[in-house]
Amino acid sequence: MVEADRMRVSVIGTGYLGATTAACLAEMGFEVLGLDVDEAKIEMLRSGRVPFFEPGLDELLGKSLKSGRLNFTTSFSEVAEFADLHLICVGTPQRDESGAADLRYVNAAVEQLAPHLNRPAVVVGRSTVPVGTAATMASRLAALAPVGEEAELGWSPEFLREGFGVEDTLRPNRIVIGTDSPRVEKAVRALWQQQVDEGVPFLVTDLQTAELVKVSANAFLATKISFINAMAEVSEVAGADVIQLAEALSYDDRIGGKFLGPGLGFGGGCLPKDIRAFMARADELGVEPALSFLREVDAINQRRRARTIDLARQLIGGSFAGRTVTVLGAAFKPNSDDIRDSPALDVASTIASLGAQVTVYDPVALERARAEHPQLNYADSMLEAARGADVVLLLTEWTEFREANPDELAAVVAQKRIVDGRNALDPTFWRASGWTYRALGRQ
Ligand code: NAD
Repeated sequence: MVEADRMRVSVIGTGYLGATTAACLAEMGFEVLGLDVDEAKIEMLRSGRVPFFEPGLDELLGKSLKSGRLNFTTSFSEVAEFADLHLICVGTPQRDESGAADLRYVNAAVEQLAPHLNRPAVVVGRSTVPVGTAATMASRLAALAPVGEEAELGWSPEFLREGFGVEDTLRPNRIVIGTDSPRVEKAVRALWQQQVDEGVPFLVTDLQTAELVKVSANAFLATKISFINAMAEVSEVAGADVIQLAEALSYDDRIGGKFLGPGLGFGGGCLPKDIRAFMARADELGVEPALSFLREVDAINQRRRARTIDLARQLIGGSFAGRTVTVLGAAFKPNSDDIRDSPALDVASTIASLGAQVTVYDPVALERARAEHPQLNYADSMLEAARGADVVLLLTEWTEFREANPDELAAVVAQKRIVDGRNALDPTFWRASGWTYRALGRQ
């Protein structure tokens, strides 16, 4: 293996996580080769186009390609030849109704890479996996690689947030590497030396702890969101205001204000599938009761979607049949075009299935939404989407929606009724403009 400061890195899987990682590592000065099995994606990346929306990534990709430090391929033999350190960033979606993680892409990545490893190499998994996966992958790698145990595997979970991917990769809040191999530790430390020098905590754990850090962090975050949404449920019937409640809680620094925003709840390609996979794994390990609370966390989250639909139905007199409904937002959260398990699209689809004409607008996620939900109508602007609406639902809190002008919107809708599914608007302001305003957790 070459010296750490001259280390060449491959990134296997160039989706949200991998493409961001690859461009950031090239920005940090490493020579990087990104690999994906999706040829169209690799073509796009080669030509400097990011296949998804991530603020700042376009610029970084262009810069890194130009510098010559970043290249892309679909060939496993090429990455094996090129790199000393391989980062596995492939997807681990939900497998089926059981909720368990689908590990076929992680298995395939290891199995496709290993036979090409003719010299000592370090392979580090970054995907989110059920505890126990890394140990299995380490044995599989050593069994399949021509260099045998000189191909070593560690696991270093990734904590980046979509929408802040570049920032979070360049300045992570911690780096965790699960390994008992000094060589793996040395390679991962070299990768993040700059950040470690700047004070970013660097934790070395065993494989299982590293895997668990990621899933338990996501379980905690999901629990915090569902906690405040449970308080919203109680507030609605008790006559309280969950926004004031959340604010008052947030000043307690043992609690803090982050992830304490009541509303439609979480979605996306991580939290929902990660808590389900965690429960499924606990079941396999025989410790199902330890995580049974996550079932309730998931249920509270799903109930917020149903409650949002109920609020809209009440506002239009009890039935969606033949009504015109506007949904603002398609992405699972603002600053992203990711629509995986998007609460906004879930609500929009359910309302459409109940007989309404639903028109959706989102600043960046329309193309993806159109491809996946062709039964919905789409508009290219907020005002166009709201034309003739019997009710408007704000379901993704993009700044554009937060800053919407109630008078402008009033001029195009049929009825001034709005459901604020994200508690993103000022009710007093909207009511003053004549709107009937409803939100989750408030009167
Ligand atoms: P993604 O679906 O956007 O990307 C996965 C990529 O892997 C795809 O481009 C796919 O073509 C590619 N792939 C599949 N099989 C492959 C193989 N055998 N070889 C090479 N490439 C292959 O998924 P993502 O959102 O980037 O997530 C990847 C992993 O990172 C998941 O485990 C996820 O839970 C985790 N994670 C994601 C985020 C996030 O914000 N998206 C944050 C932290 C961790």
